[in-house]
Amino acid sequence: MIDPEILEELEGWDDDDDDDGGTASDGVGSVGQGSAERGALVLVGTPIGNLGDLSPRAVDVLSTADVIYCEDTRHSRKLLTHAGISGVRLRSLHQHNEVDRIDEVIASVAGGRTVAVVSDAGMPGISDPGSRVVAAVAAAGLIISVIPGPSAGLAALVASGLSTERFCFEGFLPRSGKERRSRLTTVAEESRTTVLYEAPGRLAATLADLARQCGDDREVAVARELTKLHEEIWRGTAAGAASWASSMPVRGEVVIVLAGAPDVEVDDVADGPLIEALEVRLAAGERTRGAVDAVAAEFGIARRRVYDLALAARNDDPTPGVVPEGTR
Ligand code: SAM
Repeated sequence: MIDPEILEELEGWDDDDDDDGGTASDGVGSVGQGSAERGALVLVGTPIGNLGDLSPRAVDVLSTADVIYCEDTRHSRKLLTHAGISGVRLRSLHQHNEVDRIDEVIASVAGGRTVAVVSDAGMPGISDPGSRVVAAVAAAGLIISVIPGPSAGLAALVASGLSTERFCFEGFLPRSGKERRSRLTTVAEESRTTVLYEAPGRLAATLADLARQCGDDREVAVARELTKLHEEIWRGTAAGAASWASSMPVRGEVVIVLAGAPDVEVDDVADGPLIEALEVRLAAGERTRGAVDAVAAEFGIARRRVYDLALAARNDDPTPGVVPEGTR
């Protein structure tokens, strides 16, 4: 049931955002699933750098939508102007107001309007706002359509030279603390190719963390400034990437593509060499967590197994260097 107050507000279109006074269209003939008579939420992909990547269908939908929700109205207005689109109402939809916008979006779509959603770049909902609105509109049983466009992660993946057969998307890693460590562990053990987003200023630190966690030799590609003038794809090992990124300031936007963990049968590696490797590291003064991570990466096996060995060795003999996580 749509809140009548919201419907009333929408009839008046009492916007707090950008409105250059244009008239709404009758609908979008080219939107999938729906008809021009019915409302729809339309997710529209926009360029990740090169404005030439805005598709004709995107232009069609954006120029005929009743309203466009966008992260930053000034930013999107520039894109619309470039595409020769004017007179479409813009409303903000960003990480801080997405939940608050849900009711009005639902009311609008239910009221027969075509509501477009874009983000500053790429596909909305991919490390960008949009997915919560989509979930709510889907739950309300309304029409959702998509005009696919560029997305930095997919573009980087296909150009990386790494396996595209099975991959996963991690977006941005948590910035610090336990959450980051735990996510790095998961990423290191993942057997599919992993796609990560990162800010340029944090690239060197993240590549160093990945090298430590996945082993120096894990294959990596770093895609920088895709579709732009200074597009570059660096390919090599995790350690090489970390050293490349720390040797100079990396500018522009970057995506990290990480090869999957090698498939190693648990039975291929006996316990003895693992325990030996652990003890060497601990005797050299490494902390248990670091030693476990490094041995797991070195032998290409699950961290859990190495950790269990560390624990078992300690229980057998509490005096040697092997001690469980959290005690050093
Ligand atoms: N929604 C976007 C998409 O579909 O790709 C992603 C938005 S996310 C906030 C921004 C991140 O995407 C950047 O930090 C960077 O990791 C990546 N990115 C965006 N544009 C890029 C480009 N032209 N080249 C490389 N990476 C890019």
